[in-house]
Amino acid sequence: TALSHIRNFSIVAHIDHGKSTLADRLIQETGTVKERDMQAQMLDSMDIERERGITIKANTVRIDYTALNGESYVLNLIDTPGHVDFAYEVSRSMRAVEGSLLVVDSSQGVEAQTLANVYHALDADHEIVPILNKIDLPASDCMRVAEQIEDVIGIDATEAIQVSAKTGQGIVETLEAIVHKLPAPKGDINAPLKAMLVDSWYDSYLGVIVLVRIIDGKLKKGERVKFMSNGSTHHVDRIGVFRPQMEMIDELGPGEIGFLTASIKQVRDTRVGDTICHDKQTVEALPGFKPAQPVVFCGLFPVDAAQFEDLRDSIDKLALNDASFSYEMETSAALGFGFRCGFLGLLHLEVIRDRIEREYAIDLITTAPSVIYDIHMRDGRIEQLHNPADMPDLTLVDHLEEPRIKATILVPDDYLGDVLKLCQDRRGVQLDLTYAGSRAMVVYDLPLNEVVFDFYDRLKSVTKGYASFDYQMIGYQQDNLVKMSILVNDEPVDALSTMVHRDRADARGRAMVEKLKDLIPRHMFKIPIQAAIGGKVIARETLSAMRKDVTAKCYGGDATRKKKLLEKQKAGKKKMRQFGKVDIPQEAFISALKMD
Ligand code: GDP
Ligand code: MG
Repeated sequence: TALSHIRNFSIVAHIDHGKSTLADRLIQETGTVKERDMQAQMLDSMDIERERGITIKANTVRIDYTALNGESYVLNLIDTPGHVDFAYEVSRSMRAVEGSLLVVDSSQGVEAQTLANVYHALDADHEIVPILNKIDLPASDCMRVAEQIEDVIGIDATEAIQVSAKTGQGIVETLEAIVHKLPAPKGDINAPLKAMLVDSWYDSYLGVIVLVRIIDGKLKKGERVKFMSNGSTHHVDRIGVFRPQMEMIDELGPGEIGFLTASIKQVRDTRVGDTICHDKQTVEALPGFKPAQPVVFCGLFPVDAAQFEDLRDSIDKLALNDASFSYEMETSAALGFGFRCGFLGLLHLEVIRDRIEREYAIDLITTAPSVIYDIHMRDGRIEQLHNPADMPDLTLVDHLEEPRIKATILVPDDYLGDVLKLCQDRRGVQLDLTYAGSRAMVVYDLPLNEVVFDFYDRLKSVTKGYASFDYQMIGYQQDNLVKMSILVNDEPVDALSTMVHRDRADARGRAMVEKLKDLIPRHMFKIPIQAAIGGKVIARETLSAMRKDVTAKCYGGDATRKKKLLEKQKAGKKKMRQFGKVDIPQEAFISALKMD
């Protein structure tokens, strides 16, 4: 296809503003997928994505569109993830396209992820077409939202397109805007091949699939290519495009987006942002991308120790497809063998955990999420602490530094007070507070440690779901941080150790032991539950002994009822782990840390 008839774009939006629905509508309107094959959210392929209605991996689709002027265009849409954990994936896929549709729900207005995502688009020098979606809703207010887009984002919204992705209204106007407002890609078909590695993932039939954007030259099936970052060369065995299902073709030219396969075994062998050229040539590399760094760590242990090898297997397989997820074996005195895993954020953690439990049928114990602390040792060395259980002897430590973030929260006025209180409670420092209409935009400097666990849940609950949130890392800062241990029946349970700020340790310790008292079932003996810093106990509760046999409650020795009860108990047991003589249920490891 001639460059002048190609348009490459992405859609940026806050979650739930209708990005996937709009993508579906564009696919449908252009007949890319036959009506009978159409299913809602064509681009959200993973189960978890569908269920939660979020897009995790960037997906792509090639659409043929005959415009109202009679000319035929090829439109390449790269769908980007909408969640804060995956900001890195957003920024990298933006570099492969020239324009963005900015979708804003006209009944809601601009939200935190609208801002975060549109800034990525502006960073990538995109032309931006604003779309006011959901105009079928009675609460839709296009005037107000267009003004807000101009005020808060600073882009012209006078020609914003009014769309209902639900009814299909405004879809043709959107397609026309893509053709007439977004720029065509540039590139030189006669220059040596230069392509960008946009994304890659593992497919069990084809091996690693590499999504590429051709900058210059041509890429043909059967050629040998070189990945410039490591000099590795590969024989290209397939070239294709997504419609959205795969369609094999023979070559890709400048401005085009498609995929190649080359018998590559692991996603780790492909670096996103890498430059691809012909094997005997060298071209100027594209500006490098920084690899995504895990920021949240936790331990994953099988409930049933016999499933350790199955767990290893499932983690190995998941890691084939997700280079941003790191893991190494971990042994815990309390939990036995497991893995210490690193994630981009909490959603990422949840996604991986759910997939292991669901796709591989392994019950997991997940330990408290932790951030990476820098330990400044007295001898001047700096060590990274991924796991509170590994905290070195205090006499060797000079001080600790923790990661901090800049959090941006958009919230209706009515809830502002609660949001400020929440941020304050989490050791936040206010950086900015501005208004756009009846919404406040609050910017806070917060310790990541106080955010990773349940900040987002709390924010949603205190604002009844009306606040939106986004963050970026800003660096490390020293603070008075200590390791708090939990002892159950006088035995330390290493998997419950956490790092806390000294000023908050007493309250946190008290809350944790109270929670654990409710979470741990009674036993035949008294169980002390304590929180301690170093050797000093800061909080204590005692779980009293159980008096009667549970089955004694059954009336008249009803045998089936008794059997059922015992079976139920046994099933409950499966989800428990023994610590010394005490059974602790799986959920205790996460629930004990939730702060209310
Ligand atoms: P995404 O998170 O941005 O991908 O949003 P989705 O496309 O998943 O849409 C979120 C919700 O809004 C879904 O329940 C959609 O059915 C709904 N939705 C999307 N577009 C419209 C629209 O134009 N009108 C109405 N009424 N609902 C819409
Ligand atoms: Mg979506």
